[in-house]
Amino acid sequence: MTPLPRIAIAGLGIESSTFSPARTEASAFHPLRGGDILDRYAGFLGEGTPLRSAAEWRPALVGKALPGGIVTAAAFRELSVELIERLAALPPLDGLWYDIHGAMTVEGVDDAEAVLLRRIRDAVGPDVLVSTTMDLHGNVSRELAHLTDLITCYRTAPHEDALETKERGVRNLFERLRAGSGRPLKAWIPIPVLLPGEKTSTRVEPAAGVYAQVAEVEAEPGVLDAAIWVGYAWADEPRNRAVTVVTGDDEVAVTAGAQRLARAFWDARDDFAFAAPTGTLDECVAAALASAARPYFISDSGDNPTAGGAGDVTWTLARLLETPELTAEGRTVIYASLPAPEAIPVIEAAGVGAQVTVTAGAAVDDTHEGPVTLTGVVHSIRHGDPDAEVEAVLRIGGLHVILTRARKPYHLESDFRALDLDPRRADVVVVKIGYLEPELYDMARGWMIALTPGGVDQDLVRLGHRRIRRPLVPFDPADFEPELHARLIPASNAPLTGDDE
Ligand SMILES: [Zn+2]
Repeated sequence: MTPLPRIAIAGLGIESSTFSPARTEASAFHPLRGGDILDRYAGFLGEGTPLRSAAEWRPALVGKALPGGIVTAAAFRELSVELIERLAALPPLDGLWYDIHGAMTVEGVDDAEAVLLRRIRDAVGPDVLVSTTMDLHGNVSRELAHLTDLITCYRTAPHEDALETKERGVRNLFERLRAGSGRPLKAWIPIPVLLPGEKTSTRVEPAAGVYAQVAEVEAEPGVLDAAIWVGYAWADEPRNRAVTVVTGDDEVAVTAGAQRLARAFWDARDDFAFAAPTGTLDECVAAALASAARPYFISDSGDNPTAGGAGDVTWTLARLLETPELTAEGRTVIYASLPAPEAIPVIEAAGVGAQVTVTAGAAVDDTHEGPVTLTGVVHSIRHGDPDAEVEAVLRIGGLHVILTRARKPYHLESDFRALDLDPRRADVVVVKIGYLEPELYDMARGWMIALTPGGVDQDLVRLGHRRIRRPLVPFDPADFEPELHARLIPASNAPLTGDDE
């Protein structure tokens, strides 16, 4: 009986903005170790699944953090040292699944995911087949494409296919190992475009049409997988830009596929637009108040914690508090949310129904506005959320402000209902978010994206990138002709030479 392939699992996932003063520490990754890791992927690696019993799984360490500021050098060292130690202690491996986001920026380290994979390769040896799964907002440098053998990313934004993508990456790895078919060819093409995710939602054109071609390329004979990375807009490294990679065993097919996808993305460069009408905060508030559509959602996009904002920018809330139509009794307005660790104990001590005055926000990012003072009635308090830890709602007239001990994204209806808020019956819901996540999108009857300031400002050109490769759209005029030919990246066990960037 042939022994089962032995496959390790490892990776660190975060997207980190270099335009936020926030820093990310090791604990923010909530590292999982050993068997706990399989539970994270229970959908396809849980007890009783065919894949689970088809291989000998050796989960080492997987960390996943909410988007945030850049990772400290100490945190990266601590996590990567433990990850490598755990891998080095394993019996010889056949495969390794490298599960990352791809937009991790580390203090003093460029291309952190490639640096980590190089260390992993040094620990596990050159013969191990590595499959990398990523967020499409990650970045694929030539080095990362070289160090991995298979590589893919999500095909939808919002990421409704996250688990499906991971399963595909793992299944392809497993099938290669079982068939003994070795390393596939990798055709890699950088595309000189850098866009915010809010302009590349696959729900709408042109991204919908561009991404629809990914499955068509994948279906070509001789192609194993195909992927387009939008890249991450709020970090300033040479690798930050869009990329396509097509893997497979037929050189003509992978080359043609990668070129087709790169050309489609480039040709659409002028058509990418925000997924909803945009405006200044004042314009969005005026539109919401004038509209009969209820609930009316406003994305407070500059400090979106799921893109890498600090989350505690008070700029928007300060302006909402000064808008009498929003704090008027009789109207229901929800603001989600503001981390306010100093305010939470005061609210807890006062209790539901009490009136309190607290100062909140701008502890991490005060570059746009200082802390705000809120006087209101405690509407609800909740303990135990894994991200927020403690949540409270302060009601100031009709304005319901969600305060938290730690950063938390509000993406689900249940996030609101747990706080005795009903977003469906609200007039206006302002959320620190970019494009609305599916449940909120389905609920919204009106929606605008407010172009507010913060670490993930949607106006990229005003942020001041310095280290990105130029020319790059939108930082340069879009009228040049880029090199969109496929670069065949050498196999991971062959040297990477030249500088075909
Ligand atoms: Zn993403």
